[in-house]
Amino acid sequence: MIAVRDLRVSLGGVTVLDGVDLDVAAGEWVTVIGPNGAGKSTLLRALTGRTPYAGRVSLRGDDLGALRRRERARRVAMVAQSPAVPPGMTVREYVLLGRTPYVPPLGRESAADLAAADEEIRSLHLAAFADRPLTTLSGGERQRAFLARALAQRAPLLLLDEPTSALDIGHQQDVLDLVDRLRRDRGLTVLATMHDLSIAGGYADRMVLLAAGRVVAAGTPAEVLTERLLATHYRARVRVLPGEHGPLVVPVR
Ligand code: ADP
Ligand code: MG
Repeated sequence: MIAVRDLRVSLGGVTVLDGVDLDVAAGEWVTVIGPNGAGKSTLLRALTGRTPYAGRVSLRGDDLGALRRRERARRVAMVAQSPAVPPGMTVREYVLLGRTPYVPPLGRESAADLAAADEEIRSLHLAAFADRPLTTLSGGERQRAFLARALAQRAPLLLLDEPTSALDIGHQQDVLDLVDRLRRDRGLTVLATMHDLSIAGGYADRMVLLAAGRVVAAGTPAEVLTERLLATHYRARVRVLPGEHGPLVVPVR
């Protein structure tokens, strides 16, 4: 679905991504982990084409840099780490923003756009909130609205930047189970970043460990979530225990 080769990004004169290679197959869920400042958010932003980069990103063989903005948005949807919450906008209006790449310039949303937004509102259990201002939703409800907007874009590749970091453990599982179900039902490809390593390992097919702008490990959750790698790159003291759905990473004092 996406192939990244020698991706380099500089921000304010500082090299933030330094030769990243990454492949995600169609239908796969890959999660990028790494300490604060490793470049995870920058990586996802570059893959939407909104951050200038050097190197090559191809989407099903097409060069991302050569695609027009609307075409890119039809292929890649992203939920940012802390999306802006436009004041006064209702949930329905917000989810409709996901249809922007389908609305003709100077045109209006079509009946099909309104139907697509309503379908996502239903699939993310937001019908009861549709006419409420987004600002009045709880953290978990808001996160579902962010996801609904991205899904309304109907892009086959979904980028999720720490989709659960503002949520309690139950809502984290709700959101990730929902994403996993949508992935299976719609054949979506998911590239996410996540901080909770046990939860990350429970949902990903593969993981990539990013440190200081480079990929330092990649493989199955069991291959990446090792005491040695986490000690080296997070300077964390942890025990890794075998779990039902992947390794469990337990901090030790
Ligand atoms: P992560 O998501 O892994 O925590 P980020 O991708 O947000 O990391 O940031 C990676 C590095 O890039 C950090 O050191 C951050 O300070 C730096 N950075 C991000 N945006 C800018 C910017 N606009 N100008 C300069 N440095 C930036
Ligand atoms: Mg980040």
